[in-house]
Amino acid sequence: MAILVTGGAGYIGSHTIIELQKAGMEVVVVDNLSNSSRESLNRVEKITGKPVKFYKVDIKDAAGLSEVFEKEEIDSCIHFAGLKAVGESVEKPLEYYTNNISGSLVLFDVMRKHNVKNIVFSSSATVYGTPAFVPITEECPKGEITNPYGQTKGMLEQILIDIQKADPEWNVIVLRYFNPIGAHKSGTIGENPNGIPNNLMPYITQVAVGKLQSLGIFGNDYDTPDGTGVRDYIHVVDLAIGHVNAINKINEKPGLKIYNLGTGKGYSVLDIVKSFEEASGVKIPYVIKPRRAGDIATCYSDATRAKEELGWVATRDLHEMCEDSWRWQKSNPQGY
Ligand code: NAD
Ligand code: UDP
Repeated sequence: MAILVTGGAGYIGSHTIIELQKAGMEVVVVDNLSNSSRESLNRVEKITGKPVKFYKVDIKDAAGLSEVFEKEEIDSCIHFAGLKAVGESVEKPLEYYTNNISGSLVLFDVMRKHNVKNIVFSSSATVYGTPAFVPITEECPKGEITNPYGQTKGMLEQILIDIQKADPEWNVIVLRYFNPIGAHKSGTIGENPNGIPNNLMPYITQVAVGKLQSLGIFGNDYDTPDGTGVRDYIHVVDLAIGHVNAINKINEKPGLKIYNLGTGKGYSVLDIVKSFEEASGVKIPYVIKPRRAGDIATCYSDATRAKEELGWVATRDLHEMCEDSWRWQKSNPQGY
């Protein structure tokens, strides 16, 4: 039996496939390559020494997806496919809702028709909005979400809750990621954003490699130890391993479960700059800019539930995250 990985050619998906294959699991990937390249999967194959079954299919295409379910013996799905750029989602809400919501509805329906009812879904700490408290546990109420991308995560969580309530044969694990950074140790796969990066770490690595001139730090007047925003950065390999644990437990944990995947530690933008400089030996020039609309001061997890119920903890520290992000960028200055 195989695990269907939607969006498997992307950043988190490609790292997760490695960990699934290492754990001896069969993987089938569907991706429309709208934000990725087939090359990432070629490199995964080199790392693991195992072939990756790949279908270039859009999750909005019910017939294309059904064909995959008919050809392959799929018993569960890890659902990464989606558009993820916060700023772009404000400009293109219709595209984001169509791709992320309509696409997921098609996927869930095709799964149901093929009696596949185990799913691990990529959600985000963004659903907490301005968190009611930190560290954030899963009990923290969902907050006001300020952009269409985040809305799609909140809506899809609710859709999965309703599907599972109506048909208890569904087993759903919702994983709320904090801030994934880092890359596989080989330096051959990593985050490969289109255009100018929105996220902090790819921006820093592109400054370091000389593609961008200097980092803009969005605000130094937050109520945080040094005034810059605090986040819970998690190594993408730790995050990937979290999916293996979730898939291993999905039948033991019937119903719907929600887990935070984070380290439980908060670091400021200036902490990240300093740690990256230490890990890479490259100075990162920066300028302080106004706050970015929609940003919050502080966000970090309490991931105790994932530890107790999935047996998962993040083990890679910030230095390692920076070293690994840098190795990937340095060896692949133009991405794939
Ligand atoms: P990514 O863009 O690298 O990967 C997503 C993949 O989905 C891409 O390969 C893209 O081509 C594919 N895709 C998009 N729409 C598709 C469609 N309609 N049909 C088929 N394939 C489609 O992003 P990522 O960072 O690997 O994120 C994976 C998931 O995790 C996403 O759902 C994202 O929203 C979520 N997430 C990411 C972060 C983060 O910071 N990276 C944080 C929280 C949650
Ligand atoms: N940030 C920044 N400059 C950038 C990108 C991000 O100062 O070019 C800050 C941002 O304000 C936040 C942190 O870095 O405090 C993490 O931002 P990112 O976009 O990576 O993730 P988010 O937590 O917003 O999803």
